[in-house]
Amino acid sequence: MTIKRALLSVSDKTGLLDLAKVLAAQNVELIASGGTAKSLEQAGYKVTAVETLSGKGEAFQGRMKTISFEIASSLLYRREDPSDIKQAKDLGISPIDLVVVNLYPFHETLKKNSSFAECIENIDIGGPTLLRAGAKNFRSVTVLCNPEQYGTFIKEFQENKGETSLEFRQKCASQVYTMTAFYDQAIASYLTQSTGESLRYGENPHQKAFVMKDPFQEGLAHAKSLQGKEMSYNNYLDADFALKTLQDVHQWQGTKSLPTAVVVKHNTPCGLAIGETPIRALEKAWKGDEKSSFGGIIALNFPVTEEVAAFFTDKFVEVILAPSFDEKAKEKLKKNCRIMEVKLKSEPAWQVRSIEGGWLVQEADTFDLSNTKVVTKNPVSEDKKRLASFAMLAVKNLKSNAIALARQEGPEFDLMTMGSGQTNRVDCIEKLITSRLTDKGIKDVSEVVLASDAFFPFPDSVQVAAKLGVKCIIQPGGSVKDNDVIAEADKLGISMLFTGRRHFLH
Ligand code: 5GP
Repeated sequence: MTIKRALLSVSDKTGLLDLAKVLAAQNVELIASGGTAKSLEQAGYKVTAVETLSGKGEAFQGRMKTISFEIASSLLYRREDPSDIKQAKDLGISPIDLVVVNLYPFHETLKKNSSFAECIENIDIGGPTLLRAGAKNFRSVTVLCNPEQYGTFIKEFQENKGETSLEFRQKCASQVYTMTAFYDQAIASYLTQSTGESLRYGENPHQKAFVMKDPFQEGLAHAKSLQGKEMSYNNYLDADFALKTLQDVHQWQGTKSLPTAVVVKHNTPCGLAIGETPIRALEKAWKGDEKSSFGGIIALNFPVTEEVAAFFTDKFVEVILAPSFDEKAKEKLKKNCRIMEVKLKSEPAWQVRSIEGGWLVQEADTFDLSNTKVVTKNPVSEDKKRLASFAMLAVKNLKSNAIALARQEGPEFDLMTMGSGQTNRVDCIEKLITSRLTDKGIKDVSEVVLASDAFFPFPDSVQVAAKLGVKCIIQPGGSVKDNDVIAEADKLGISMLFTGRRHFLH
């Protein structure tokens, strides 16, 4: 579809004239708002003022410039739909094929420490409206929201003889929605801060912080705090780890989930157990690493009763997350212990983390052991395979590089010990696991399964595991040295399973 009419409304005039030159050369009609029209006219371009379309000029000191039925219709109506085409004709609406808008500089205004009123005035309303309308109709409309896009557009426009490809338009549309999302996020952060809905502080007392709740999702950010001090930034982070681990283990057990408890310290589950009773689960999880459990964050998949609450009488914990707490339990729990009611959900959501200048977005790490196979000569019993999958689940929730040792007692499973957050795998076993086993006085690990979150790059970790007395290992596999690793395991009488699925956690 040839671009015949373009609407330009830019606060940053960079590159505007270069773009106008290319458009004018193809006889594209240039429609522009006040300041933009002025710049174009000064450079000698013929411009249609927006009010020619909207029927009204600017109003309310510029708050109203382009918002109008006519302009939005020109962008939104479906160019292939007979009913829309007829209606547009009846209403006297002609299509606009290109929107070039960049928004009021809200971020710049903030940086200048401007007054509250000035910041509010720099919330652009008409610009996002134009962009979002054009972006929705990307089947026919091209939208540009940043001067950095002009060069690519010019190339596309010239190569396609005055048109753009659908793929190009869709990409531009996605850039618009990304941009408006960040723009709105900045406004929301600014208003949240100034209404005092903040957390006391961030990771450290000198850092400002707040929670942004995604209204389209459930989860920890929305959880009800029942009593105790206000949740802190670090509490939320740890609680998130505890909850994710709990959800994984709960789901892994299927419909007949037994009581499960997780203890987290500094983003790391240091205790994790499935027990026949709530107290058994708690005891085993707590003892996973008793030294670290002090001051931990607890996540439980069972209701907190008076009996469960009594478990914590002589212990200090920061937060307890559980599906419910009965009144007697609430009375029994220390008043400064934060308690939160949480729903266990299973549908994995997108995960977002910030880096300098943007966000990283990824799917949640899901668990699937359907491709697991025994790669060594020794057979592995079905029971051992189940324990191995629990061990894998535990290690999946530990920061890489990670090693977990899991054990089973009848229907009960627990994380015996673990090493995580190490910069190499062999130290994880040789230093952390070895010293923790010594600390706990554990000598016999012949019945446990050792799980690794990623492949062993060399046979050395297998040798260290054998020295400890480990007889079964589960790991993803995938190293160029897999054959050496398997041969070493066979030589040392260790059985080994490969899952084909890595679980890095950074
Ligand atoms: P101009 O310099 O052309 O007068 O204004 C351009 C700026 O106005 C752009 O940043 C554009 O996003 C913004 N804008 C366009 N239409 C409207 C509107 O109706 N209301 C407000 N507040 N801003 C608008």
